Amino acid sequence: MSSQLVSLVTPAHVPLDLDLPLQRITGIGPRQAQKLEKLGLSTVRDLLFHLPRRYEDTRETVPLRALQPGIVQTAHVRVRNVSSRRSPYKKMVLVEATLEDDGAVATAVWFNQPFLARQLQPGMELMVSGKVEMSRTGMTFRSPVFERTGRDQHHVGTLAPIYPETQGITSRFLRTRIEPLLGLATQVPDRLPPSIREAEGLMPIAEALYQVHVPDDLATAARARERIAFEELFLLQVAAERARRRRMSEPGVIVGYDIELARRFVATLPFKLTDGQRVAGHEILTDLAAPGPMNRLLQGDVGSGKTVVAALAALMTHHAGFQTAVMAPTEILARQHHATLDKLLTQHGLPPRLLVGSTSAAARREILAGLAGGHDSLIVGTHALIEDDVAMINLGLVVVDEQHRFGVAQRRRLRQTSGAMPNYLAMTATPIPRSLSNTLYGDVDLSELREMPPGRHPVETRVIPPEARDSAYEFVRAEVRKGRQAFVICPLIEESDKLGARSATAEFERLSTTVFPDLRVELLHGRMPAREKTERMERFVRGDADVLVATSVVEVGVDVPNATTMVIEGAERFGLAQLHQFRGRVGRDQHQSYCLLFEGGIDEEGSQRLAAVAATDSGFELAERDLQLRGPGQLVGLRQHGLPEMLAADLLDVALGRRTKQAALAWLDSDPDLSAWKPLSDAMNGYRAVFDID
Ligand code: ADP
Ligand code: MG
Repeated sequence: MSSQLVSLVTPAHVPLDLDLPLQRITGIGPRQAQKLEKLGLSTVRDLLFHLPRRYEDTRETVPLRALQPGIVQTAHVRVRNVSSRRSPYKKMVLVEATLEDDGAVATAVWFNQPFLARQLQPGMELMVSGKVEMSRTGMTFRSPVFERTGRDQHHVGTLAPIYPETQGITSRFLRTRIEPLLGLATQVPDRLPPSIREAEGLMPIAEALYQVHVPDDLATAARARERIAFEELFLLQVAAERARRRRMSEPGVIVGYDIELARRFVATLPFKLTDGQRVAGHEILTDLAAPGPMNRLLQGDVGSGKTVVAALAALMTHHAGFQTAVMAPTEILARQHHATLDKLLTQHGLPPRLLVGSTSAAARREILAGLAGGHDSLIVGTHALIEDDVAMINLGLVVVDEQHRFGVAQRRRLRQTSGAMPNYLAMTATPIPRSLSNTLYGDVDLSELREMPPGRHPVETRVIPPEARDSAYEFVRAEVRKGRQAFVICPLIEESDKLGARSATAEFERLSTTVFPDLRVELLHGRMPAREKTERMERFVRGDADVLVATSVVEVGVDVPNATTMVIEGAERFGLAQLHQFRGRVGRDQHQSYCLLFEGGIDEEGSQRLAAVAATDSGFELAERDLQLRGPGQLVGLRQHGLPEMLAADLLDVALGRRTKQAALAWLDSDPDLSAWKPLSDAMNGYRAVFDID
């Protein structure tokens, strides 16, 4: 069928190929090309992969005499006559057609589409489809869709694809542009190796593309879509598994597991490790001792105690003669890690050094010398750590806090100049839902801290409607009177009428002069110079301020145990994970803590999300809930990760995830360097930004 189409669509003068820009296609003008661009469609290939959302099935026709009022029906008719007139009340143009088939007559009526009077001619044969109503003149189709019957029926009386549309680009338009191009589907390289296709009972890609746009029947359309989904997940799994095998085949820094050292470290802690910390610590130390370099993600809510686990790994690494670099996304966080690690590790002969943007030139020089000379074994810092002149002579462990996916390129820069590959530990308080981790993080091993250290009261979370604001402020004042402190988080820095968000600066003015003139209020936002931010933060940490008004700069990691109230302005404007992060800033001590979610606007979805945050204190549960509320497409933001978008696959499809993974593993066992099927190895280009595969 496809070869027949090729001859049909290849006009002699335009060399059609998959990369051809759409405005070069007959029937697509520059304006339409621009609109198609909005749908992310710029080439013939894009158009072929613009998959229908669903199908409209109007294949079943009804004789006119059998029409029933109240439902959508399709009929094969002849036009008897057409008239147009102005409707008396609403000044609308009505086009009416009398339709007949062999047994009966019916009417069709359209509103404000005067041009239809010219399109419809007596004697024309049509398929009409639409809702039928009983009127004065008998059975009447109201604003039906119709199409002349002929050899190639596209829209009515068929199984017609409904596409994602945009202003000026209808499914009808897309159908007529896509179908003539389908012959080109034979040029799409089939990235699924034939043996896998056969074993899995999947059709070739050309056939799948044909069937997804012009299906024989709905079951075939579903199989076509599944075939495309299979390919998408399969490629992801191959990339992830390849990255894993590649990594494991590379010599990693081997750090022996010294049980005695681990015991000594644990014995000096002022608390008992949680079971989760023990298990995670064991997993990490086991990885460190294995020949391949570690690639592990430690997930745990704010306050679950990830730092201690990382400290143990750093100590073991040092003991084996290697350096550790700890990277944080902000200077505030880097300073905090530095302080924590200082408390935990200096007594074990491993004092941490700090390298951040504001480190003075002299200090920096000294630190670089210490790292290059190997005297310093533990460095904590920001992105300042991956500047060109920072060289570690024997880096054994990289710990990255709060960056889910540290880019492959960045990671390579942290690699020491010679020798084995350092071990890699990422830490995050915004867990990946387990349902996603399999496919999306296939190259990463996960450790989880699901329980909190004992003695913590869960943070009490309340949604505060506008009318309860004043009493909420009174509550904050009462906490401060007890000697506690409070955060007030605002969505933006400056007042913006458009967004109606309370800005930190304006809110600071208001709170310090009107609401809390009796309290010490401090302001912190991301546009302040780093030095100033640090100073103000430190004032708050010391207890020299009662209320800290801030933007999301306090989102990650800030530790002020005496703060017990977290007020979030315009809370519905933040994501679930972010709200949970904010909440994690309090409840870090024995005091009962509170999170007050101030509702800004009223919208159904927003209040559902706030209710979800109030209902659970587990970040793991919230991540799953967020996924349910927003859907995987949005949450994952594959493009943001640097991965190709999924067109057909559902990342949460566990069964297909398993099937594709098995196929990927089996394929790599027999063809480890992907030399046996070129379209597959070519496809890996799309995954290089995320998976370390070459
Ligand atoms: P995270 O980085 O996971 O948010 P931290 O590592 O900063 O958490 O730990 C939060 C606080 O909990 C720190 O003050 C730390 O000393 C303390 N802590 C860690 N583990 C335990 C434990 N097992 N028992 C009691 N307190 C702990
Ligand atoms: Mg932390």
